[in-house]
Amino acid sequence: MTAGHLTERLTERLTERLESFVERCTEAGVSATHQRRVIYRVLAESEDHPSPEAVYERVRREIPSISQATVYNNIHKFIELGLLEEVSKLHQTSRLDANLDRHHHLVCVQCKKVVDYYDAALDKAKARNHEPHGFEVRHYHVEVHGLCPDCRKAAD
Ligand SMILES: [Zn+2]
Ligand SMILES: [Zn+2]
Repeated sequence: MTAGHLTERLTERLTERLESFVERCTEAGVSATHQRRVIYRVLAESEDHPSPEAVYERVRREIPSISQATVYNNIHKFIELGLLEEVSKLHQTSRLDANLDRHHHLVCVQCKKVVDYYDAALDKAKARNHEPHGFEVRHYHVEVHGLCPDCRKAAD
C-alpha cells in the first residue's frame, strides 16, 4: 500500500468520526462549537492515545487562548457522551482513545507508548466463568504490557 492510499484512508476515517461527533452532539443537545470540534479532531487524529495534558498542548497550537480547564471539561464531556474512551489509567495519567472500533492495546512499560492492536482471536475470547466473582460481563479489552521495538533496541 502506498503512502497516498494510507493518507486517503486516514482522511476518510477522520471525516467519518467528525461526522458522527457532530451527530452525537446534536442528539445529546450539546452544541458542536468550534472549540469542541477542534478538541475532538485533535483526539480523532491522534493514534498515540494522548494524555489530557498532551491533548491540551496540541489544541493550544490551534487555539492559543484556550484554557486547560476548557479542554479537560470537554474531554470529560466527550467521555460522558461515549465519544471517547479512557484507556485504563497508565502510569498515573489517563490516556484517551477516540478509536471506538473493537481493539486491544499494546503498552510499552518503558516509554509508555500505547499502540492499537487488532486481533480477531482476542475479540472472541470469553471468560471461562460466565459470571466471574459475580460480575456480569459487559465488555473487556486486553492490555498487553511489554517492551516496544524501540525500547528493545535501546536495551540491546
Ligand atoms: Zn517503549
Ligand atoms: Zn486504542
